[in-house]
Amino acid sequence: MPKSPVQNHLDPRLPLVVDTTKLPRQPGATRALKRVAPAPADLGLELIGVPEGSDLELDLELTSVSEGVYVSGRVRGSLTGECGRCLNEISESFDVAIAELFAYEDSTTEETTDEDEVGRMQGDLIDLEPAVRDAIVLTLPTNPLCRPDCPGLCPECGVHFDDLPADHSHEAADPRWAALRNLKETEE
Ligand SMILES: [Zn+2]
Ligand SMILES: [Zn+2]
Repeated sequence: MPKSPVQNHLDPRLPLVVDTTKLPRQPGATRALKRVAPAPADLGLELIGVPEGSDLELDLELTSVSEGVYVSGRVRGSLTGECGRCLNEISESFDVAIAELFAYEDSTTEETTDEDEVGRMQGDLIDLEPAVRDAIVLTLPTNPLCRPDCPGLCPECGVHFDDLPADHSHEAADPRWAALRNLKETEE
């Protein structure tokens, strides 16, 4: 059975695919890569992530090493999400580091490592998407907050504690008020 051609054909026009043709395959040779790419879909976690199509600013340096190309630098962009405590919208920026080796095809590194450990080049092309994805997603909080001390919502009435008096409580509610409330509800 021939190998599936699908994964061996990177499209050089994809925004996160880098063509290294102009980088000499000579250890130590470097080339700067600055590019603004649209963020791919599903870049993030359930509550917070990079909006699809928003700007990803790549500020990278490609360095030839004996076994491949080392990509390092920073990726910046914006995040939107929802506070895990109060559901308020979160909108902030991120700036993460990337440092990843991509092995030449048929190099010893390619033969002796796992694809999960070291990235692979396809000819002169590098697909940065998995590395960019990992770098960003790994820094995202699973439970993002609109601010570190967000008090959240009152579990009883669902109102933001910011909008409630400091002594807000349901436990101490006067039973007479409860009776009155029931009465009002039956009237409505
Ligand atoms: Zn919040
Ligand atoms: Zn309440």
